[in-house]
Amino acid sequence: MHGIRGGRMTRIDGATPWWRCWLLLVCLWALPATAAERAGVQLAPGTDSVSLSPYLRYHHDAGDGDDLAAAWQRVDLRGMRPLPDGNDAFGFQRGTFWFHARVINRDPREPRWMLVQEYPLSDEVDVHVRYADGHVVHHAGGDHRPFASRSVRYRHPNFSLDLPPGESVDVLVRVRSQSSMQVPLQLYTPKAFTEVSRDAQLAIGLYYGIMLALFFYNLVLWLSLRDASYFWYLCHVTAFGLVLFTLNGLGFEYLWPGSSWMADHMVPISICLALVAMLQFSRTFLELPRRWPRGNLLLLALMGFFVLFGVASVWLPLRISTPVASRAVLLGVVGIVIATVVVLRRGYAPARLLLLAWSMFLLGTAVFTLLAFGVLPKNFATEYGVQIGSALEMLLLSIALGHRYAALRNENQRITAEANQKLERKVAQRTQEVRSTLLQLEEAHARLRDSSRRDGLTGLYNRAWFHEAFRDLARQARDDGAPLAVLMIDLDHFKSINDRYGHLVGDDCLRWAARRIGRTLRPHDALLARFGGEEFIVAIPGRDMAEAGRIGEAIRHALGDEPCLSGDVRIRVTASIGVHVIEACAADSVDAALCIADRALYAAKANGRDCVELAESP
Ligand code: GH3
Ligand code: MG
Ligand code: MG
Repeated sequence: MHGIRGGRMTRIDGATPWWRCWLLLVCLWALPATAAERAGVQLAPGTDSVSLSPYLRYHHDAGDGDDLAAAWQRVDLRGMRPLPDGNDAFGFQRGTFWFHARVINRDPREPRWMLVQEYPLSDEVDVHVRYADGHVVHHAGGDHRPFASRSVRYRHPNFSLDLPPGESVDVLVRVRSQSSMQVPLQLYTPKAFTEVSRDAQLAIGLYYGIMLALFFYNLVLWLSLRDASYFWYLCHVTAFGLVLFTLNGLGFEYLWPGSSWMADHMVPISICLALVAMLQFSRTFLELPRRWPRGNLLLLALMGFFVLFGVASVWLPLRISTPVASRAVLLGVVGIVIATVVVLRRGYAPARLLLLAWSMFLLGTAVFTLLAFGVLPKNFATEYGVQIGSALEMLLLSIALGHRYAALRNENQRITAEANQKLERKVAQRTQEVRSTLLQLEEAHARLRDSSRRDGLTGLYNRAWFHEAFRDLARQARDDGAPLAVLMIDLDHFKSINDRYGHLVGDDCLRWAARRIGRTLRPHDALLARFGGEEFIVAIPGRDMAEAGRIGEAIRHALGDEPCLSGDVRIRVTASIGVHVIEACAADSVDAALCIADRALYAAKANGRDCVELAESP
């Protein structure tokens, strides 16, 4: 069956210059074919996939001089050489590459096979299949042709070939591309291709599933925490996802299936975007402007480079932009690793996880590179090294973000607790100060109150306070049913003391008399006050007239028996004393009682002074 989609029959015709035939014949001797190449690819029954690389011969037409006819002629004259060391990757090259293999299908149950180029970025891939009868079927692929023209909607260019059992078929593949020249061609039975592509899609789906989960998880965190690191992390995940999406051929499949420009240019542009976001994320995460200003400048310079190069990639040929951008990735990551190590050595613990994350990324990339150079064998871990490394990297970065947030929160709590403690200490100190001030104020107030009750000269209570205190004593005595004695004391001829010795000596005599009276009254729980001038008054609760008279006499003796000494003058000071007792049952008013005591005092004065006069009971 020859009704292949996009298929086109071509006949070889046209003359070939004689010198070209001669040249090819010379080459024939120079380039002997291996046994495998001569026999061609044998598709034995039960085989479900074969790599064409060991059977391929190629020709690099750097000047684009060969047309299809010339290429077929080169095939027929065996003017092609085997792949160098069996390697199907040639790096960035100009011109056209031609590949040829002879295929013999020995499996009668599998008349149709899938030819797959397991590299998605080639621009133009043309497959010409020549059958035994000489007719040729053409299939076109590559990302400069619409995605919809592929045999199977799949990220790798693929071609459905009719390989009639037992027939030797020539497969000629022409590849032109601005991107890296990689032509790993593989033949699959349709069943095997379905299974392989399904497994690969699952692996890729898992990777992007992890990326999406990390993206949305951190998006929510960013929206709630508003920490810039999260935002740059999101940018990094998105841009890096875009890089791999483009490199895997998924960008062309799903995002820009009609745009060959995007398919080409998104590789360097997305790499630059990913690196800018990665550098900016590292700067904010590591707090570089504060922790290592020089490293900050280094990363800023790298960011500047990637921004400029990303813009320049719009115009630069891919031959230059893609390899430069890919190599600069290493430069960017090394810059970030150096900054991380420096900040870590300066004691910033959250940088540890970051270092581990970048190491994962570098390890994954290294494994992939070693695979490309053939140092490591091809298996799931090495083939998907970049994906595994970057998924681990982003997972660790997300964890690092969480740790950093926790560290920031703990630091905040510590600062708040410290501030609270400081505040509490200050409040306690202020309270203590206020309390002691209040105490001082209270004391001052008490002193003031006391001094307002005292007489300035003698230190005895004054008349105002005596009135107040005496009223209380009288009430108390009445309540207790006890008598209350009142003694009115007046110094005799005091005016003449003043006149004779002066007022200062008079003051000395007043103080002296106050002390003597006070001392005499000490055992009696008496209230003593200066009543005014040279007069004193005494109230003694619980004393009847006889006891009060005796106390009066004691006072008179205390004054009159010894002279007062003022400087070197000795002055005899006597006093007249009037005594009155308010009886328990009596209801005398305070003023009346004082009046009676005063009358008794007058009587004492009248009796010749220096004596005690008892008031007559009413
Ligand atoms: P009498 O025996 O009748 O009481 O005679 P007297 O001189 O003591 O009585 P008088 O009332 O005539 O005089 C009281 C004197 O007491 C008059 C005044 O100068 C004096 N005096 C009153 N207060 C003070 C004082 O605070 N200091 C001094 N040095 N003298 C005072
Ligand atoms: Mg007097
Ligand atoms: Mg007097």
